[in-house]
Order: sequence, then C-alpha cells, then structure tokens
Amino acid sequence: MSDGVDGGIFEQMARRDHEQIVFCHDEITGLKAIIGIHDTTLGPALGGCRMWTYASEAAALRDVLRLSRGMTYKAAAAGLNLGGGKAVIIGDSKTQKSEMLFRSYGRFVQGVGGRYITAEDVGTSVRDMEWVRMETDFVVGISRALGGSGDPSPVTAFGTYQGIRAALKWATGSDSLAGRTVAVQGLGHVGYHLVKLVTEAGAKAIVADIFEDAIRRVVSDFANMIEVVPPNEIHAAECDVFAPCALGAVINDDTIPQLKCQIVCGSANNILGSEEKHSRALEEKGILYAPDYVVNAGGLINVANELEGYNRERAIQQAGGIYDITTQIFQIARAEETTTVKAANTLAERRIAGAAKLRDRFVNRRPSRMMLNMRTDI
Ligand code: NAD
Repeated sequence: MSDGVDGGIFEQMARRDHEQIVFCHDEITGLKAIIGIHDTTLGPALGGCRMWTYASEAAALRDVLRLSRGMTYKAAAAGLNLGGGKAVIIGDSKTQKSEMLFRSYGRFVQGVGGRYITAEDVGTSVRDMEWVRMETDFVVGISRALGGSGDPSPVTAFGTYQGIRAALKWATGSDSLAGRTVAVQGLGHVGYHLVKLVTEAGAKAIVADIFEDAIRRVVSDFANMIEVVPPNEIHAAECDVFAPCALGAVINDDTIPQLKCQIVCGSANNILGSEEKHSRALEEKGILYAPDYVVNAGGLINVANELEGYNRERAIQQAGGIYDITTQIFQIARAEETTTVKAANTLAERRIAGAAKLRDRFVNRRPSRMMLNMRTDI
C-alpha cells in the first residue's frame, strides 16, 4: 500500500524500525483497521485507537506508523515499561460507529495476544472502548464505574504543571509559581485544570479560547487571577510561561518572533511546527522548550495505571515524576549541546537500549512492572 511517495510497506516499516503491522478487515461490520506496533522492547505496545476519514489507505498507514513510533518515545521517556503502538479505524466517527464495529475491532486486538493494548483517541470514546472490552482483555481507558481510569485530563494537567515547575526552576532558579504569569491557550479538559493548578499556586493566568463558555467557566471559578485575551493574541502575551493546550503547530515561523515568554510548556501534541527548525529557533531566542510529549504524558501514565489496578492517587504521584524527567532532559541538552527535543529523544532511546541490554544479560521470567517513576515527595 503506497501512494508512490512512501515506498512499499516493509520499506516503510524498516525506515523507522516498526515491528509489526496488522491489517484488520471485517466485511460484516465494515471494519477496516490498522494496528501498528513500533517497539516492544520495554513492554506491550500501548496507544489509542483513532477513527478518521483518511483520504487514502496509504494516509492511514502513514498515520499509524508515525503515531505508534511517537508512543514508543512517550512511554520510554515517561519511565513506563510499555512499548509504542497505535491503531486507526478508517471511517467517519460521526456516522459509522456501531457496537459490532468496535467488538469486531476488539476481537482483532485480542488476536494480537497482548502485544498491543488499545485505548481511546481522536474519534473514539470511553463508550467505544467498553464495546471493545467485551471482546478483549487488552484495552484501557475504561470508565471509573467499570474500574477504569476515567477522564485523564486532570492527570495530564498535573504532569504539565510539573513540567512548568521544572522549567521555571531550570530557567530562573526557583520553581515557585507565586507571582508568575502563565498564558494558557485553550481552556478545555486539560487547560481548565492547568489554570486551576497554576492559580492555586499563586500565579496569574492569561487565558484564551475560541469557545465563550470555556472562558466564562474559568473566569467564574478563578476570577481574581485571570486576564482574558483574544485567541489570536495569546501567544504574544507578556508572561513567564506560554502553555499551549489547544492545537498543534502553534510555535511556528509566524508566532516565534512575537513570543514574550521565557518558557514554552503545554499539553498540546506537536506544539512545534517543525521539531528541528523551531526547537532551534526557540533556543536562539533564549526560550526554554519543555518537550510536549514528555510534559503531556500524564494521560498515558493515567491509563497505563489500569494495568496494575487503577488508583488515582498513584497515577497523580507517578505523573509527578514528570518534574524530574523534564529536568533530566534539560541536563542532557546542556551537557550534549543539543536542543531539548533531541535530548528527550536521546533519553528515551537510551532507556530502551538499556532495557534491551539488560534482557540480553539476565534471564528473568517475571515480567517487569509497568510503572517505574514513583515519587513520594510531592
Ligand atoms: P479539548 O478539546 O477539551 O480542549 C481544547 C480547547 O482549546 C477547547 O476549549 C477549544 O475551544 C480550544 N481551542 C481550539 N482552538 C483554539 C484556538 N485557536 N485558540 C484558543 N483556544 C482554542 O482538548 P484537551 O483534552 O483539553 O486537550 C488539549 C490538548 O492537549 C490537545 O492538543 C490534546 O491532544 C492534548 N493532550 C490531551 C490529553 C488529555 O488527557 N486530554 C493528553 C495528552 C495530550
């Protein structure tokens, strides 16, 4: 499957070291899905299942290859013993969902035998995962009522908050939020909780959203600590920290010259328009960038927690580890004279390589625990 640009499937897998791709087809339910398993050195590949109307099968494959690799890095950097995986269902999430479609998908996930663990993602919901769960043991992101982890956003926000604290410490010598200003773009599930955390810690929040109700809620809940600005001005706000919590690619050729912050640290995925170019541009401007996939790993930490019996307190505690991980990334970037983006990738790659060596040297029949980054001092 190729549109002439990417090469054959094995060529595409070899390019980024993907282990396995599973094509799932069920005529009765209309299921067309692709499960991508990038790397299982650290543990089973965990990642959400996206439902999207892809323009072509090649585009769906490209997405699953890209996203599953991203999950390998995210899990590795977060200190989880999980590999990277992702799935896509080709279809319209508004019109083509059904119980049997997701149960059919669940049967394919079960067939992969635990090498891939699925979860919700763009276009899929907790309810869909409950259908998936009828057919497989290998699904997380289930509702609290069924013993699952429920909404991950408060844990994601907490992890991002820890990233902000670590970045402040690195840039200014103090991780206190008191008297600081944090500009939060997007006041949805994560943004709302982030505003709550930073204002409770004594910071002023400059906020923007395109959705009036989201602004009203934040203003009514945290009144004295909030300044509202138009959505097209938030990136240019005078602040200590700019926290993108809405869209990707908000740090780009247009916005970088307008930034007036010391730090960029937010929950949005793919904050940088171009990783290489814009991480360098931020560095040249003296702005510290806390890599998105590291500081937004709270959501992954939260769902992964289900694998050991969900416990919100433990999930929050583990997301607290993002403070130390972010600091480690800054240390690597300084020591190796590289960008924080490259440093994050290096940290992840070293952890995977270390685990592979360990496995080669010592026979251990007991599987490694999923979670590692416990912190007790937060
Ligand atoms: P959400 O959809 O609940 O909230 C996004 C908010 O951004 C909405 O209120 C929307 O109105 C607003 N928005 C959209 N365009 C905007 C613009 N141009 N300017 C200002 N505001 C705008 O999403 P969320 O769950 O809060 O996630 C936020 C980001 O964090 C996303 O990029 C998501 O992929 C990422 N993320 C979320 C989680 C999680 O646990 N929810 C985990 C990891 C990463």
